[in-house]
Amino acid sequence: MKYSRISEIKKDEFLGKEIKIRGWVHRLRKQKDKSFIIIRDDRGGIIQCVLPSTSVQDLTIESSLEIRGILFKDDRAKEGGYEIRGVEIIIYNLANNDFPIGEYQSTELLLDYRHLTLRTRRMINMAKIRATILEKLRNWFVENDWIEVTAPTLVKSAVEGGSTLFPVKYFKEEAFLSQSAQLYLEALIFSLGPVWTIGPSFRAEKSRTIRHLAEYLHLEAEAPWITMNDLFTIQEKLLINSVQNVTKERIEELKFLNRDVLAFNQIEEPFDKLSYGQAIDILRSNDIKIQDGEMTRKIEWGDDLNLDSEKVLTNDRSNPVFVYGYPLEVKPFYVKEDPESQGIALTADLLLPNGFGEVSSGGMREENITVLKTRIKKEGLDMNSYSWYLDLRKYGSVPHGGFGLGIERLVRWIINLEDIKECVLFPRTMARLNP
Ligand code: ATP
Ligand code: MG
Repeated sequence: MKYSRISEIKKDEFLGKEIKIRGWVHRLRKQKDKSFIIIRDDRGGIIQCVLPSTSVQDLTIESSLEIRGILFKDDRAKEGGYEIRGVEIIIYNLANNDFPIGEYQSTELLLDYRHLTLRTRRMINMAKIRATILEKLRNWFVENDWIEVTAPTLVKSAVEGGSTLFPVKYFKEEAFLSQSAQLYLEALIFSLGPVWTIGPSFRAEKSRTIRHLAEYLHLEAEAPWITMNDLFTIQEKLLINSVQNVTKERIEELKFLNRDVLAFNQIEEPFDKLSYGQAIDILRSNDIKIQDGEMTRKIEWGDDLNLDSEKVLTNDRSNPVFVYGYPLEVKPFYVKEDPESQGIALTADLLLPNGFGEVSSGGMREENITVLKTRIKKEGLDMNSYSWYLDLRKYGSVPHGGFGLGIERLVRWIINLEDIKECVLFPRTMARLNP
């Protein structure tokens, strides 16, 4: 007899029928005559099983087993009113009697045992939502005729500045873990047109924050002949389309995680666009302070936006908001200067509402080789390792641009999670390389 997934059999049409399930002991309550076992299957499906206590005497939490029995409906049964009255039980592995994950555990312990924490319903629901987010984002690109590419993660040159680079020994040379695939995507637009990729990016973030990982999943897109306005529209459509499809498809999982999905239906395009100057005015009138070396002072024109700033700018919104036109100095060497506004970059960051803040950064790229070289020099970067990138400006350079979006930042907002470590299966931070 074939075994079934629990989600398939919790239906009235199977009442009174014999069924077989496989899974793990999620909860266990032994009474004198009969025992109640909550079984979790390999898709996180949950059902209560009742068996004579004599047949489950040694049973422990997380033991793997198969149960054959008859499906009944019982309003008292936990997890949806269905229950299997067991006829036969086969134990695959009797788990050690000290499964470390229970109902109340410190965040640290849950992270230490992440390989086991992934079996909790919270994590299972997160993982399913995350998978659907990836699926919907990919679908959007496929449906809109963007070509998927991949880029190396072992690289010779920095993209986002030296302070967050991870060096690695690469045979006899020094290499780095990639901070972004952007430069490679830029090389591909000449032969493939609009391209996109999803892969890990690495940032040696030295500060511990609730929205920085040392390794995160980075979705990046790049296209030739594009404008700032196109970049706004693409990100609006990509985000709205994916988020609304995810919330439709994963409504049960989101409900389990107490996420109210109504707010997502109110999101509409176009998103508001704040200039950097407007943003600074708002922040100054809110008396936002920043850390400047040893000193704390009021934010002023020329500063990058920190977490507090992004909170103030997004707190009372239901829609995401773009902040565009940052000063050139706070942005990397490749960003294009606004020809109509000296010292201003043609870039925009997309901030998620309710304090979640930056989810993507994008803009136009500098096409002119002389300007690029000056910028590389000014930032103290090694010109030689960018020679291939400079070639792209020698042979048929075109106006182009793109953006990069952090998947865990998006997951964090969609599920409304506090810490970004919750949005990835095996988080990597300054304090954590294991499991
Ligand atoms: P932030 O200012 O929030 O530190 P950033 O401006 O350094 O981010 P970008 O270089 O613009 O980041 O990277 C593109 C996107 O990648 C960001 O908008 C964000 O969504 C995501 N991202 C960047 N750094 C991290 C990180 N350490 N952990 C998780 N996601 C990140
Ligand atoms: Mg950014």
